[in-house]
Amino acid sequence: MTEPVTMVETPIRLDYSYTPGVASSRFLRSLEHGQIVGQRCPRCLKVYMPPRGACSMCGVATDEEIVLDGKGTVTTFCVTNVPSPGLTPPYVTAWIRLDGADITSMFLIQECDPAEVRLGMRVEPVWVDESERQPNLGNIRYYRPTGEPDAPYDDYKDYV
Ligand SMILES: [Zn+2]
Repeated sequence: MTEPVTMVETPIRLDYSYTPGVASSRFLRSLEHGQIVGQRCPRCLKVYMPPRGACSMCGVATDEEIVLDGKGTVTTFCVTNVPSPGLTPPYVTAWIRLDGADITSMFLIQECDPAEVRLGMRVEPVWVDESERQPNLGNIRYYRPTGEPDAPYDDYKDYV
């Protein structure tokens, strides 16, 4: 009797060029300098990170730049037990609402036991070394707990 097939490796490669536009270019350049820059809508005051140059709700340009300190709150997360290239299971990916932003972004959570990750956990970015930085989100290696008290549920309940 032969073993059942449980996994098939299918190497896939996709080469493409990306033209980010003005707002995304400024955002990507800020990452290269260890900063996270969002943009605020002049009408509804939502802060977009990453910025897209316009508010999708109001349809107006978002010219005001907001520098975020990078810290944030875990709003939801997933513990993955399946191997992935470069990641040893179990590992955690989380949607994080950065302080001052009105959108969540997905990052890895490391430097803690996956069983310790929880909603409301306060986290901070761990950047790659300055000499390795490029204009992309890969400059943030992962997020780690800050050790601060958890954020109150009301602070992130609309993002769960
Ligand atoms: Zn708006």
